[in-house]
Amino acid sequence: MEDREEEAIRYLGYGTHAVDDQTLALIRDAYKELDEAVRPRIVYRIFDLRLLGDNCIMIADLEVKSRDLARNLKGCSETILLGATLGIETDLLMERYSVTDMARAVVLQACASALLEEYIDHWQEEMSKEMGEKGLYLRPRFSPGYGDFSIRYQKDILGMLDAAKKIGLTMTEGSMLTPTKSVTAAIGLSTEQIGCHRKGCEMCAKTDCAYRRDTAK
Ligand code: SF4
Repeated sequence: MEDREEEAIRYLGYGTHAVDDQTLALIRDAYKELDEAVRPRIVYRIFDLRLLGDNCIMIADLEVKSRDLARNLKGCSETILLGATLGIETDLLMERYSVTDMARAVVLQACASALLEEYIDHWQEEMSKEMGEKGLYLRPRFSPGYGDFSIRYQKDILGMLDAAKKIGLTMTEGSMLTPTKSVTAAIGLSTEQIGCHRKGCEMCAKTDCAYRRDTAK
């Protein structure tokens, strides 16, 4: 089984339970359709960063109150802000199946979420190489909604990135990103190499890491 299939199974909530052949076939079909449909886009900018105490961060002129993000960014002097989306075409595909075939729509949702992560992971690996040449190391990405980093900051991030104009990424009044398969995030840049796991803190074995992203609160 491919990694992306395992990811989709995880998003579907199967956990360690074996997935049946029918669902696996649906997952493979969904990926085929999504590979044709998705129009992934990303926009990012690098901003100066200052930590003001243990629960306040200045990202350029934006003041962010978050203890969890402040811990994750400790020791960083800059941060990448990014917005990424699979595009409206993915939403249209999911909407179509939500009317005609609910089981397929659910599987598509899971596969699209996994695909978005895969796309950003790949981008992040390339960015790691680029920054590594300058002696800078990436922390795991930290999205509004993790821990106490409020989703209301999405609006500021989208504005700072000019994301609506650049990649068609906007937000509803209820703070939902549009297109739906999209994320915003901050990624700290530090001269300290701590060897972050490419899949982030949840998959990292360094349980005593001082910068650990802790979403349990
Ligand atoms: S727990 Fe691992 S992935 Fe998370 S900040 Fe520490 S080293 Fe990086």
